Amino acid sequence: MKKYLSLIALAGMIFSCETKSPQIDYTQLSDAKRLEIAKEIAQSTIMVDGHVDLPYRMKVGGFTLQREILDVSVRTPDGNFDYPRSKEGGLDAPFMSIYIPAGNQAIPGASKALADSLILMTERLASTFPDKFAMAYSPADIEANFAKGLISLPMGMENGAGIEDDLANVEYFHKRGIRYITLTHGKDNLIGDASYDTTGTHGGLSEFGEKVVAEMNRVGIMVDLSHVSDYTFRDALAITQVPVIASHSSVRKFTPGFERNMSDELIQAMAKNGGVMMINFGGSFIDSAYAAGSAKVREHLVNYMAENNLSRSDSAFRAYAEAYAAANNPFPTVQRVADHIDHVRNLVGIDYVGLGSDFDGVGDSLPTGLKDVSMFPNLIAELLKRGYSKEDIEKICYKNIFRVWKAVEEYAANSK
Ligand SMILES: [Zn+2]
Repeated sequence: MKKYLSLIALAGMIFSCETKSPQIDYTQLSDAKRLEIAKEIAQSTIMVDGHVDLPYRMKVGGFTLQREILDVSVRTPDGNFDYPRSKEGGLDAPFMSIYIPAGNQAIPGASKALADSLILMTERLASTFPDKFAMAYSPADIEANFAKGLISLPMGMENGAGIEDDLANVEYFHKRGIRYITLTHGKDNLIGDASYDTTGTHGGLSEFGEKVVAEMNRVGIMVDLSHVSDYTFRDALAITQVPVIASHSSVRKFTPGFERNMSDELIQAMAKNGGVMMINFGGSFIDSAYAAGSAKVREHLVNYMAENNLSRSDSAFRAYAEAYAAANNPFPTVQRVADHIDHVRNLVGIDYVGLGSDFDGVGDSLPTGLKDVSMFPNLIAELLKRGYSKEDIEKICYKNIFRVWKAVEEYAANSK
């Protein structure tokens, strides 16, 4: 027995000499050296972001959907995403949010029409700059685009209202390229109840919503549980046959009472299901002190406006507001985002956490050191400092979401 063990030990030693490069203890390096390594990792690893609101930013910017697009092939003075900054930060596959405001739900057909036009706009972006962007409908597409140096534009639909009241639209949107659907947005819809709403229309997932989740499983669309109420979350987990995602949600422990984030109980339930939660970087998602502090800033500005007889559109007010907000907003830091990742890892393990920035969707609330897509290496450096391995970081950047996505593809392939 002893001889047997030592042979195994010997074999192990030979194996490790031949295959493993010496382990680097990143925690012992200087900050500058660690950032250098973080930048290398960001460039060499596929990085997926679960939620970027570029299509909505383009729409708000007055771009006429499929006929015209914001030129993000070059550096843009505002917003959090464009091609040069994405390349700098090593971001390879930002999920484009096909976002349908809850207001559209009141008008039959309006949600689907908006989804269709935002999909066309996203496709237009890829076809206008084929040397920079490409559509992506699978992990395999992202890998192929990455090998060519292209930024992938996978699509997720934020708000299942786009399905309207017709189950056939689930398959329709799969054909149009949608690969996740966030079941609700800010208000309860036909599918289920939303975290921001207090109406409790269905007490969770509706009967129609149950059918929608089953149909999403069948056709191969990931079920996204960001934005839903806790009841809807639990109901959807009970129905789904495959792992789920939360495309842009953070940890509720750091924002008590904020149902839009996930409680420990839900994080554990999601891990049991094999899913992944992608951490939102927005200030009010990662720190309740930020939410309180920024409310004070807003209050001051409203008073200032009244005292000085100014309106919101006056240039004098805008200049003051910008300077005041920059000086007084208690922005969280990149370390706070790492705290959320730490919490998920400590609670359920490294296999269930990813990145879902909400860039271009959370305004001027982003943490210092993580203000746009060029700054992902700062987060990676912080994780290295905390003892995360390169493999841990690969899981966070893409392996976890690819695992879920492939499981969803496989289930759909077997359902045909
Ligand atoms: Zn959202």
